[in-house]
Amino acid sequence: MGQLKLTGVTKRFGTADVIRPTDLTINEGEFAVFVGPSGCGKSTMLRMIAGLEEVTSGTIEIDGQVVNDLAPVKRGISMVFQSYALYPHMTVFENIAFPLRVARMSQARVEELVHKAADVLQLRDRLDHRPGALSGGQRQRVAIGRAIVREPQIFLFDEPLSNLDAALRAEMRVELSRLHGKLKNTMIYVTHDQVEAMTMADKIVVLRAGRIEQVGSPLELFHKPRNQFVAGFIGNPN
Ligand code: ADP
Ligand code: MG
Repeated sequence: MGQLKLTGVTKRFGTADVIRPTDLTINEGEFAVFVGPSGCGKSTMLRMIAGLEEVTSGTIEIDGQVVNDLAPVKRGISMVFQSYALYPHMTVFENIAFPLRVARMSQARVEELVHKAADVLQLRDRLDHRPGALSGGQRQRVAIGRAIVREPQIFLFDEPLSNLDAALRAEMRVELSRLHGKLKNTMIYVTHDQVEAMTMADKIVVLRAGRIEQVGSPLELFHKPRNQFVAGFIGNPN
């Protein structure tokens, strides 16, 4: 579960063609990373996949089912944004539980799911704390906890680490890879950081001005970049 397929997907804002016709398949359990310069359409792509933005044309399928008309919560997708807001007056437990409360789950089920997410993210001993009492990395983990607690098949991360300092980013990279190893969900991770792309991805999707320039494993892109742009982005000077 969690295969994602885009066929002929485009996005136009007014007269601007922000996403050109795009075909892309992300396999079940794959860790895909979207890279590309600012403004190339990474966030727009994720938002269309999540259902937060309508496609102008084309189809998005999840596990063979067209989801174009499905509401975000029905798609089995969670998204973590660059700027995340925790509720300062709520405990870590309630911050993570929030989407479950909205979905009116039973208290027993809420406790089960929150504890599971907290275990994965090593937050079990922080559940009674308030966000103000946490480190930056712990706060970021709470935000991720909120996204994973509903156990979606697909996680989308839109530059989730770009507000963190370098040391914390490195720590969170390891954390996210570990999370992926445990949950084995399909993940799409957006970054403009080549190091993140190279170290985390099973598959890298290089975007430029609304088009996919190349898709491949980190090694393929490094050794066989299709053009100078990909080479430059991946860090191979040749
Ligand atoms: P990235 O995430 O790669 O930086 P975005 O997907 O945010 O890129 O934006 C791609 C392009 O689409 C940019 O030129 C941006 O200005 C434009 N864009 C994004 N959202 C909107 C919108 N709601 N209305 C009009 N233009 C938009
Ligand atoms: Mg963006």
